[in-house]
Amino acid sequence: MDAQRTLRRAVSCTGIGLHSGNKVTLSLKPAPADFGVRFRRQDLGGLEIPATVGHLRSIAYATGLACGDGSVETVEHLLATLVSLGVDNAVVELNHPEVPIMDGSASPFVYLIHEAGIKTLGAPRRFLKVVRPIALSSGDKRIALYPSDHFKVTYSISFDHPLLRHQSRTVAINEESFVEEIASARTFGFLKEVEMLRQNGLALGGSLDNAIVLGETGALNALRFEDEFVRHKILDVLGDLALVGHPIIGHLVAHRGGHALHTAFAAKILDETDAWRLVEGQVDPSAVGAAVMVPIKHGAPLPTDS
Ligand SMILES: [Zn+2]
Repeated sequence: MDAQRTLRRAVSCTGIGLHSGNKVTLSLKPAPADFGVRFRRQDLGGLEIPATVGHLRSIAYATGLACGDGSVETVEHLLATLVSLGVDNAVVELNHPEVPIMDGSASPFVYLIHEAGIKTLGAPRRFLKVVRPIALSSGDKRIALYPSDHFKVTYSISFDHPLLRHQSRTVAINEESFVEEIASARTFGFLKEVEMLRQNGLALGGSLDNAIVLGETGALNALRFEDEFVRHKILDVLGDLALVGHPIIGHLVAHRGGHALHTAFAAKILDETDAWRLVEGQVDPSAVGAAVMVPIKHGAPLPTDS
C-alpha cells in the first residue's frame, strides 16, 4: 500500500442519475502517478474537473464539483470506493453531469474496479498523517480528526424515527473492511421528503431500487444491515474526505454530519497545515507495474491478471 496505484484497464457501466433521472455512461480509466482522480465530461469536449476541495460546488443532497462551466454531481460513493480500494489515480469519464446512482451503494463501483484490476506505479503514495486534533461543529453536528496509527472512522447518527433512533459504528478502514462492511450500505431518504425533492427537480431517478425509503414507522424496502444507515454515513464521509487528495492516517469521529459538514471539514483540514504532515510510502521497484490482489466479498482474493 506504499506506492501509488491506478487501474489496470478501462472499464465502464451505465446507470441513471439520482437527481436528473438521465441515463449515464461512466468509464473508469488508468492514469499516471500524481494525476489524482479527475472527472472528464465527454459531452463537454472532455472538460476535466479534478476531485479536490478547490473544485467543490454544490453540497445540498449530494456532493458536487465544478470547473468553469462544467460540473459533476453525486461524486461521493465513487470517490469513497476509489480511495478505500487504494486507487490514487484515475480518469472518470461521464456523458452527463451526474455519476450514476446504481443501487444507491458503492458495491457496483467495487465490482467495476475489481473488473479493471489494480496496477502499482513507480511513485510513493503520500499520506496525510494527523498530528494534532482538528474539529468542526455546527449546532449539534460535530466532526473531528485525532492522531492514530491507522485510518478509522467512528460515526453516530440520531433521528426521530422508530427505525433509526441512535446508531453508532467504528470501522478501521482498509480494502477488506470497506468491501465487507461499508460498500453495500445504501443511501436513504424519508418518504415525506420525496415529494418536496421532486417539486424542486431532484430525486427524479430515485426509486426503491436505489434508495432505502423510510415511511412513518419503517422502511419500504428490506435492509441489508440493521444499521445500514450509519454504515452509509461512513461511506459518504469517506467520499467527501477523499477531496483532501491524500489517504488519511488518523481517527475520524463524526456525529450527525452530512455533506455540508463533511466537505467544510475537508477544507478545514487542508487549511490547518500544522495539524498534519505528509508522509511518504516506500516504492518497491520490483513491484512496479505489478497487478495487485484485491479482496472481494468474504476476503477471497480476485486475480487481476486477466
Ligand atoms: Zn450517500
